[in-house]
Amino acid sequence: MGKRVLCIDDSPTIRKLVHKALDSAGYQVDDAENGAQALEVASADHDLFIVDVNMPEMDGFEFVEAVKAKPNLAGKPVVFLTTESSDDKKARGKALGVNGWIVKPFEPESFAKVVAMLTGN
Ligand SMILES: [Mg+2]
Repeated sequence: MGKRVLCIDDSPTIRKLVHKALDSAGYQVDDAENGAQALEVASADHDLFIVDVNMPEMDGFEFVEAVKAKPNLAGKPVVFLTTESSDDKKARGKALGVNGWIVKPFEPESFAKVVAMLTGN
């Protein structure tokens, strides 16, 4: 059974690229446009959250904080996919328990490898 991931990004282009990198590898990729929308659809069936940092309504950090407060979601791996690369943002992610950090633009094959590693594929 394929792994199921939730891609959370306000950019339709990035969501499309994530689909392109993962659909053919057998992942089920669900989408959300910001953290608030993602919280409504995030479920224990997801094997990984792929999260942008900068989004309207609820950003990536706020989303992860909310996820870590939910017992059924707190243990799910999280990877940030973002244009941000500053040390203090990365440190903030690490403190929140984020498992990986990929800087855009991303290379589809190495991205897929990170996703495979984090989902146990
Ligand atoms: Mg964004």
